[in-house]
Amino acid sequence: MGLLRFRGRGAHGVSAEPDGPEDRLRRFATIWSRAVFPVTSTSSTRPEFGEQLLPLARRLSEALRARTFDAEEGRAVGAALVDAHCTDPEALSHSLDCVDAYLVLYCGGDGAPEDLRARSARLQHAMAAGYAQALRERTLAEQESISAAALTAQGVVAQALHASEARFRAVFEGAAIGIGIADLAGNILQVNGALVRMFGGAEQLVRGRNVMEWTHPEDAPQVWKLYEELVCGEREHYHVEKAFYRPDGTVLWTNLTVSLLRDADGNPEYQLALMEDTTERRLLNLRLRYEATHDALTGLPNRTLFFERLEKALGAGEGQRFGLCYLDLDGFKTINDSLGHAAGDRLLVEVADRLQACATAPGEMVARLGGDEFVALTTGPDTEREVDELAARIMNALVAPIMVDGRELTVRGSIGIVEGPAGERSPAEVLRSADITMYRAKSAGGNRFELADPEADARAITRHGLTTSLPTALDRGEFFIEYQPLVHLGDGSVRGAEALVRWLHPQHGVLGPDRFIPLAEHTGLIVPLGRWVLEQSVRQARQWRDRHSDAGPLRINVNLSPCQLTHPGLVQDTVDILERMGVAPDALCLEVTESALIGADDDLLKPLRRLAEMGVDIALDDFGTGYSNLANLRRLPVSVLKLDRSFTQSMQQFPADPVDLKIVEGIVSLAHSLNLAVTVEGVETGAQAEQLRILGCDTAQGWYYARPGPPERLHELALVDATG
Ligand code: C2E
Ligand code: MG
Ligand code: MG
Repeated sequence: MGLLRFRGRGAHGVSAEPDGPEDRLRRFATIWSRAVFPVTSTSSTRPEFGEQLLPLARRLSEALRARTFDAEEGRAVGAALVDAHCTDPEALSHSLDCVDAYLVLYCGGDGAPEDLRARSARLQHAMAAGYAQALRERTLAEQESISAAALTAQGVVAQALHASEARFRAVFEGAAIGIGIADLAGNILQVNGALVRMFGGAEQLVRGRNVMEWTHPEDAPQVWKLYEELVCGEREHYHVEKAFYRPDGTVLWTNLTVSLLRDADGNPEYQLALMEDTTERRLLNLRLRYEATHDALTGLPNRTLFFERLEKALGAGEGQRFGLCYLDLDGFKTINDSLGHAAGDRLLVEVADRLQACATAPGEMVARLGGDEFVALTTGPDTEREVDELAARIMNALVAPIMVDGRELTVRGSIGIVEGPAGERSPAEVLRSADITMYRAKSAGGNRFELADPEADARAITRHGLTTSLPTALDRGEFFIEYQPLVHLGDGSVRGAEALVRWLHPQHGVLGPDRFIPLAEHTGLIVPLGRWVLEQSVRQARQWRDRHSDAGPLRINVNLSPCQLTHPGLVQDTVDILERMGVAPDALCLEVTESALIGADDDLLKPLRRLAEMGVDIALDDFGTGYSNLANLRRLPVSVLKLDRSFTQSMQQFPADPVDLKIVEGIVSLAHSLNLAVTVEGVETGAQAEQLRILGCDTAQGWYYARPGPPERLHELALVDATG
């Protein structure tokens, strides 16, 4: 029988079954269709419309989780909305709201929330862009058919003029487009009902006026030149987009076609204007363009518009430069997680307002790239100086606390600055450099700005190189494990070892875990890698037991990453490995860092608790580096404290700092009173070992005993102290 049995949920019946991804996808499509259906002009029913949205939802869901991001998917979905008759501007904004609020929730799978949210934002931008473009194309197609209709109408009018007055009247009055006739001096002689309605409905305010009075400040320069040519008989017709003031002062936008009508002898006689009202379409287009290029929350220009501007700045001529500040707020996630998204949003709006006020000079702009990332751009010949000032203004603007829900929040940010001449780099290169530099500012403690530096960029790119070679490294067998003995301070015997993973990289040689564990966590590889380490280490423990039963049972310590803690397979995988290798649970100790357990709720602790109940030891690694509440220790299923190296280091000088000694003594006695064993890390000298023994620590690990090494070495050591 297994060490643990798991009871499935099936016994509770179907209703207790969790939703599968397909159910969640459908639910998302349904919510979306409910939001958009009321503003569509489709002939389908609501459920039919939901079915129509389902493939679009699926595309979004797949694009959200795809390995590489493809904006084309978002654009295609935007375009498909136009095809599905969702051409009311509300349809777009409802769709974007819906994607914003629910896509990650229902379709995010187990991806990292931060990444998913960023993806979702980019998908929304792509959707808006695709939507705007499709609508524009559709409008153009419509315009073409209207122009064709206008030409036919014009033919009919010309014919009618020559044929019968009665038929002419009928066509003229019944036409859906505005028609007007004027003499060559511009006096308006006839207008039809459609034209009068376009101008507000009062015929006397249109008829009898002169065409020349209808100038408008937005007239393109060629408008009146074309007119002159026409009335002189030099041109037969022209087509322009033109604005008119209506008698009430409002503006009418039209597609205007003017043709010359000649008499029977071919002499110019009248001019015929055909006009189509495009006011609403124009407003819609402006609004769509605005929505596609601005961030809905803060009203700032978004990524799309920012890239347009950056591209322009980088393409500017000789002597022109650009300066870019890439800002990411420090600790925004904490605010969002603790105060909720609504408060987070309000904070972002306030930050956006303050940033906007920092960049008001011509050539400057501020944009929101998504999440808590903003950029400020300055352009011109003098950006070397200006960009520093801009960054300083931004840092300054963040100094005053922000009031949200009656709370004063202190906001800090990290800025990466890139400055340089136009014409050398692409927008993507500039942004990547800014991003890398911003991270440098963050890892230097945040609340500062740093200037881009090609060498630092290159280092970060090596990091990127590691990220790309990491996924295959496990299959290629490039990882190996070193073991570092754990020694009992009382009698000096070896009690076990900690497994420490290394990567033998084909180009970079042996890399320590600090170089690649964070990347493995980021890419999710940590789960299979961690499982591999566990399996290898437990196998090693078994071998030690088989070959050296005389030296007493050796225990194995294995590190666990926070991501492994939340992985649902943790308990089962561990149980399987122990059973397969025939190793008892109490020969295994799993090390979890203190920081991973700070603020952990019961759900997170449950798998650890189960493992502890089975007899697996859980150690709190690097203890003393986090801020965990000592009283909290009681809640945790932990049986060992591993005191961080920093405590040991402070014991290096002689005499050791009495306050440090007191602290360690206090921790040890508290740990013992909670039934926890204490292990110390980083013991490098005999004096430290002695001091720590006196303070009551149980076990030690460090270079004084042995550096991490191959598994055979451990036994040489164990045998030495067993015999000597
Ligand atoms: P850790 O668990 O605190 O491991 C102890 C680290 O201290 C090891 O560094 C070890 O080589 C080093 N060390 C041991 N004795 C001394 C000493 O006397 N002086 C000094 N200065 N250092 C000493 P390493 O191997 O670089 O590992 C770093 C961290 O990487 C580990 O810290 C652990 O958190 C993580 N790690 C290592 N292997 C794994 C693994 O398989 N999975 C996961 N998730 N993390 C791992
Ligand atoms: Mg450890
Ligand atoms: Mg440690």
